[in-house]
Amino acid sequence: METMKKLIDKLAQTRALSREEFKSLLLSSSDNALRAYAAKRAGEKAVKRFGKGIYIRGLIEISNICKNDCYYCGLRRSNTKCRRYRLTEEEILDCCRQGHGLGFRTFVLQGGEDGGFSDESLCALVKEIKKRYPDCAVTLSVGERERDVYQQFFDAGADRYLLRHETADDEHYSKLHPANLSLEKRKQCLYDLKEIGFQVGTGFLVGSPYQTIDNLCSDLLFIQEFRPQMIGIGPFIPHQDTPFKNEPAGSLVLTLFLLSLLRLGHPNSLIPATTAVGTLCEDGREQAILAGANVVMPNLSPSLHRKDYMLYDNKLSDGAEGAEAKDVLEARLDKIGFHIVTDRGDFKAIEIE
Ligand code: SF4
Repeated sequence: METMKKLIDKLAQTRALSREEFKSLLLSSSDNALRAYAAKRAGEKAVKRFGKGIYIRGLIEISNICKNDCYYCGLRRSNTKCRRYRLTEEEILDCCRQGHGLGFRTFVLQGGEDGGFSDESLCALVKEIKKRYPDCAVTLSVGERERDVYQQFFDAGADRYLLRHETADDEHYSKLHPANLSLEKRKQCLYDLKEIGFQVGTGFLVGSPYQTIDNLCSDLLFIQEFRPQMIGIGPFIPHQDTPFKNEPAGSLVLTLFLLSLLRLGHPNSLIPATTAVGTLCEDGREQAILAGANVVMPNLSPSLHRKDYMLYDNKLSDGAEGAEAKDVLEARLDKIGFHIVTDRGDFKAIEIE
């Protein structure tokens, strides 16, 4: 235990560990005292950097149509039971209007890889949002595109881009995705986005089928090398209409431990308490914040469509998850001594101990 605690301290001080060091920590993840120590140090680190303020991002799920067939995802094109929708520009702008009124200063436009949204129409949409709400940041999360298209999105005014790598191991990647998708391409997209100037978010699934401890070490090392401005991780949760329907869900406890390790290694990064964490456990998001997260992403999508954006079974989309229930979220944060910050919440690298 003392050796493992020293590794946590080393990560907090140097922001980097070797594969062997990460592996020893992950192999000790069943140790309650160790996890509590990591969460305490990570929580303190987050408070030192961000105070008790939690940034909020308004999530707008613009389309659940996707040309891809990722084995773990409820929106995969082979899922014929999914009721498909694509929001109109007017509907999206209406979500932004409501969100702005509620105090959101970041809009995250997330969708499947839907060819029905042309690159031009997305650029026009981003421009319109930035024109109407110049005080807001726009985050895009619409998958893999060519570099020149990412450049067009950036030139249109998009500030940030979320693209999870899901797993940083080639072989594991091929067990979660069909052959036309590759980790190499995914990483190329991430490096393109960073070079263009986006604030970039990546992340991975915890407990996805076939995942090993070594795979998780690869995830931590890739993130250590890439240094994303945003890091989103969540437990794998099966969806009933996918090939992984009978696979067990990932562990909340391991997800929180990994979140703490990520916070210790990346003190300036914006790390959300993800919906998947809240779906697995009633107070999962609060636990994630206490373990080092500093962002929540309430759902601003039209209520009519929220149940159709089912990435996995029972995904939360209303209650405290709904943007309209900001006061419920505020009360829940208040209970653990935190509060909402109405601010764009851009990434800034600040030196802290
Ligand atoms: S994970 Fe993303 S790219 Fe893959 S099927 Fe789901 S929406 Fe499409």
